[in-house]
Amino acid sequence: MNETIRTAEILCVGTELLLGDITNTNAAFLSRRLAELGIGVYHQSVVGDHPGRLRDALHLALSRADLVITSGGLGPTYDDITREVVADALGLDLLLDESILTGIRDYFARTGRVMTDNNRRQAMVPRGATVLPNEQGTAPGLMVRDAARGKTVILLPGPPRELKPMFDHYAMPYLRERTDCVLISKNVHIFGMGESAVEDILRDMMEKGQNPTVAPYCQAGEVRLRVTAKASNEQSAKVMCDETIERIRNSAVGPCIYAVTDARDGDYSLETAVIGALLEAGKTVATAESCTGGLIAKRLTDIPGSSAVVKGGFVTYTNEMKIALLGVCPETIAQYTELSEQTAREMARGARVRTGADIAVSTTGLAGPGGGTDACPVGTVFVGVSREDGEEVVRLTLSPDRSREYIRTLAASHALSRILKCLV
Ligand code: ATP
Repeated sequence: MNETIRTAEILCVGTELLLGDITNTNAAFLSRRLAELGIGVYHQSVVGDHPGRLRDALHLALSRADLVITSGGLGPTYDDITREVVADALGLDLLLDESILTGIRDYFARTGRVMTDNNRRQAMVPRGATVLPNEQGTAPGLMVRDAARGKTVILLPGPPRELKPMFDHYAMPYLRERTDCVLISKNVHIFGMGESAVEDILRDMMEKGQNPTVAPYCQAGEVRLRVTAKASNEQSAKVMCDETIERIRNSAVGPCIYAVTDARDGDYSLETAVIGALLEAGKTVATAESCTGGLIAKRLTDIPGSSAVVKGGFVTYTNEMKIALLGVCPETIAQYTELSEQTAREMARGARVRTGADIAVSTTGLAGPGGGTDACPVGTVFVGVSREDGEEVVRLTLSPDRSREYIRTLAASHALSRILKCLV
């Protein structure tokens, strides 16, 4: 019978992490994976390449978690100390593993480099440890059991391109067999409703101690709800997750949901949703941007596959360019100004007709900080949409106290959400 692993602690080793020279992406990756496994992570720590401090951190971690995962410090140089400190802390000898040494020699021969003597250190293994092969580099990972205390320590190399596949291929299967529950997380992506309004509507689901949990994260006008269900098996966790998402869909938040994604799939954004919807509908889009200065086109073309559906875009900052490139009537601007529903309408129509796209969006407005008037304060943005059956324009009144960058980002997000609305 395998022991059950319920809690884990992540211990990242490297002075460059403490100095802020590199971002601790390994901890984020490992935490996400452990959450998927339903293993609780209550502490993460970072220590420099210092044996005494690493030993203290390791003992502390072992005193409060079933599993300790270290990252970094497995290299061949004098400051790579993790292997030695862990072996010492667990009272295990380090033995030379001939097959690892051969593997390191082969790696150097394959990559045309000369193996130095200190690389032998990477072939030293604490007695009884399981070796985790490193297909991307020289330092193998190690898994060590401390039978006396019923604890496990997994040592992983620092470079993320080595750590991630090693963890997924060799540690995940081992851990999966030793957990007694599964966590499934899904993200509900919301645009067009603020965080406080979402919280107000879903208050009962967000109260502490619930299963599934519903946690809000917000950024630049968007809200993401992370719904996490814990159950004894994957199927039950999925059902619980889906039931909660159904309740959210049926609430007043429902109309503002633009996507539900599996949390394991990583980043997802309005532009990802727009490109996906355009591809599915077989439609194309074009942009005519003034105050967003090309941001909508940039966000759309950030998404792989966008070349099949993004026809092109115009950045028409001056009236002269709005007239010359988009065919906006000079009289429209003379009568209503460039900050008007009429100008936004003609910009969108011009972009659609001149590119032959199915849909075109336009923005014209005031991102500030200066230039606001009573009639048209900073944060006023007109977003136009043109389709074959006509144009629609919305006037946004975004908070004038926010930064220029925020207003432009939010205006671009509104334009993206208008494209999405044309497609669903
Ligand atoms: P190597 O054989 O490359 O020395 P190692 O296991 O000794 O591997 P470190 O020397 O600690 O690893 O780190 C090597 C590199 O890996 C760092 O310079 C950094 O680019 C990256 N790295 C280390 N730790 C982390 C971390 N926690 N998050 C993201 N990247 C990291």
